[in-house]
Amino acid sequence: MRAIASPVVTAETKPFWNAARRGTFMIPVCTACGKAHWYPRAICPFCAAGTVQWREASGRGTIYTFSIMRRVKEPYAIAHVTLDEGPTMLTNIVDCDFDRLRIGQAVAVVFKESENGQPVPMFKPV
Ligand SMILES: [Zn+2]
Repeated sequence: MRAIASPVVTAETKPFWNAARRGTFMIPVCTACGKAHWYPRAICPFCAAGTVQWREASGRGTIYTFSIMRRVKEPYAIAHVTLDEGPTMLTNIVDCDFDRLRIGQAVAVVFKESENGQPVPMFKPV
């Protein structure tokens, strides 16, 4: 497994990273319109309400698109995964045969340790 760069943790994303340390995948959900979004913002991008809360997500999604980086020492797959809750996030697909990846494939979150020990959410086929 290639080294994963440690994420930049800000005041806004600290609850997300703290939850990741417990193996919990959180996404921001607006309590005014009920929609989830990604990346995290204090103001809802759909209705501009400032009532965004962190909620535990299913950790399930599908591959919207992906690209395999092969011309490096340890090949890896980057992908946009559309979460079951709606938002699409840029992530990595891991623990699989890259040649068998398909758009629309179902994936589930898995946490991988980054260089400083902070777990980072990635996805693997289910
Ligand atoms: Zn909203």
